Amino acid sequence: MNERQPFDLDAYVQRMTTGPCFICELVRGNPDFAHHVIHEDDETIIFLSKYPTLRGYALVCPKAHREDLAEDLTPAEYLALQAKVHRLARALKRVFDAERIYVLSLGSQQGNRHLHFHVAPLPKGVPLAQQQFQALMAENGTLHIPENEMQAMALEIGAAFAAG
Ligand SMILES: [Zn+2]
Repeated sequence: MNERQPFDLDAYVQRMTTGPCFICELVRGNPDFAHHVIHEDDETIIFLSKYPTLRGYALVCPKAHREDLAEDLTPAEYLALQAKVHRLARALKRVFDAERIYVLSLGSQQGNRHLHFHVAPLPKGVPLAQQQFQALMAENGTLHIPENEMQAMALEIGAAFAAG
């Protein structure tokens, strides 16, 4: 188990509100925005969060810069994206023997606009008061997971995702 470390929310907000779209930069292959990628196809990129609060915390994004969940995706595009969210959920369930899989879409028009879904496995045995939003909030600290461990995790989840 990795310990949580304090999260610099002010620095994060500064990056989000002044930097380029980090998802578009990742898709373009900009090394300054590299992440541990779990899966990539023509429409979608899935990668591990840089600020994980749970092991295996991943983001599922359309590669195209879409912002509004209701208006920027057709129903067919939305359902195709959700099929990948569900496939990732199955992979996370298997890899982490998770008690539950959390899924949510957040983001902000003030700085984190590219549509993305958070998908994170809750381990078994977490007390109720530390579940749900408490388990997901970076304000409660983020896990320090060494790069080689993140790389191995992305590969393992990617293999489980590919297996269906
Ligand atoms: Zn973007």
